[in-house]
Amino acid sequence: MKVKDNRGFSLKLKLTVMYTFFMLLVTGTALGLLLSLSSREVLSATQSRLRKRVADSTEEISLNEGELRVDSGFYSVSGDIYLSLYDENQYLLYGKIPYGFYAAPELEDGNLRTVKEGTDAWYVYDLSFRLEEGYVVYIRGIVSVNEAEAGFAVAVRFALILLPSLVILVAFIGYRMTRRTLLPVKKMTQTVQKICENGDLSLRVKDMKEKKKRPSDEITALADTFDGMLARLQENFDREKRFTSDVSHELRTPVSVMMAQCGECLEDGSLTDDQRARILLIRKKAEQMSKIISELLFLARADQGRQEIHREKLNISELTELTVEEYRFLTKKSGKEMEINCEIVPDLYAMVDETLYIRMLSNLISNAVFYGKENGWIKVVLREEGDRICGTVADNGIGISPEELPHIWERFYRADASRQGTHSGLGLPMVKWIVEAHDGTVMAESVYGEGSTFRFSFPKNNFDL
Ligand code: ADP
Repeated sequence: MKVKDNRGFSLKLKLTVMYTFFMLLVTGTALGLLLSLSSREVLSATQSRLRKRVADSTEEISLNEGELRVDSGFYSVSGDIYLSLYDENQYLLYGKIPYGFYAAPELEDGNLRTVKEGTDAWYVYDLSFRLEEGYVVYIRGIVSVNEAEAGFAVAVRFALILLPSLVILVAFIGYRMTRRTLLPVKKMTQTVQKICENGDLSLRVKDMKEKKKRPSDEITALADTFDGMLARLQENFDREKRFTSDVSHELRTPVSVMMAQCGECLEDGSLTDDQRARILLIRKKAEQMSKIISELLFLARADQGRQEIHREKLNISELTELTVEEYRFLTKKSGKEMEINCEIVPDLYAMVDETLYIRMLSNLISNAVFYGKENGWIKVVLREEGDRICGTVADNGIGISPEELPHIWERFYRADASRQGTHSGLGLPMVKWIVEAHDGTVMAESVYGEGSTFRFSFPKNNFDL
């Protein structure tokens, strides 16, 4: 059975996209808020600096014996603030005007304002300062608003590069962590798929090394529970197989005794016809039981890996012809009118186990006879295709319905339970096991009411083995 794989996006991708999206949203909003606040902050800090620088500069101006003295510090531009000194008539006495500031606004004592010139903007702040002897001067501070904003723009650009990089880094780390966390889930799916494909219940999600290495979380606990469940299932299946094998063993002797006793009784000449008929019926049923027991034992040994295969180089064309011949004889003896034809390429050799090959072919031919119609036909074909041997057993019998066809390889499955006879539903599972033990494949095609065709093929194999 194959597990259908119709997944959309993987869980780890969904989780990564989800938290990356939320991280982008949160960080973007936080950064947006921060940037808009910071922009205002930077401008108001520039204004405060301008006010302070202008106020502090009063200490650098003095009047000495009627002569105006200005310290050299007044001339230097610190923090982009230019200072200039004017008399009451707005005549420039001293100081620097920034390059590009051509507007000469009126002196306005204590007023900080923005002066725009084209794309440039400036903060201008004037402060009157009364020196001794009633001499009044004006100190003007000018600072470029654009430059203050430019400094801030660098920080914004830096943040805009840093933020996506940070998001990508977090997404990458997050993806790897999610993948690591979800690894047991992936392994669980793979384990179940493998079990569905080959029925091997000894498979586990975690191996011993991993059990020691990984710290326990909810998902690893789930994997452990799953492994525990598999172990219990395997235990139960093993117990069931042992039970089947033990019971079959125990039944073998009593059934043989029953058949032997029936044989002895039948030799008694004083039996009435009715008694003879009853004993014959008992012997027939005991023979059926014996057949089922031997098939069960075969499958139990196969399950436990104890069924031995002795492959040798054999002329399988001869083996096939002999088996067909035997069935011609048996069919005739049973009184059923059937034509058994064959198309066997002579002298085909392959590495096979003789007993198992005959058993496989006998099961297919006996089914074709049993489910064949009166006056019907059976055709057995054997040929070579490349390095493979291909065989077909076809009949024009009752056929198998499409609903039942997939189940015929299951143990004890009988499409038409009313037609059981000695047929117990173990023949085809044995055929399958034998063909697969020879590294081959077997398949069935059928049209209900018209007939069935069973095809098997296996490699001839290297004769130097
Ligand atoms: P059984 O011992 O009952 O024949 P098998 O395992 O050999 O068991 O076959 C399983 C079922 O497959 C049968 O019960 C029958 O319904 C169907 N089957 C097998 N071979 C044929 C066939 N040649 N024609 C029609 N039905 C078949």
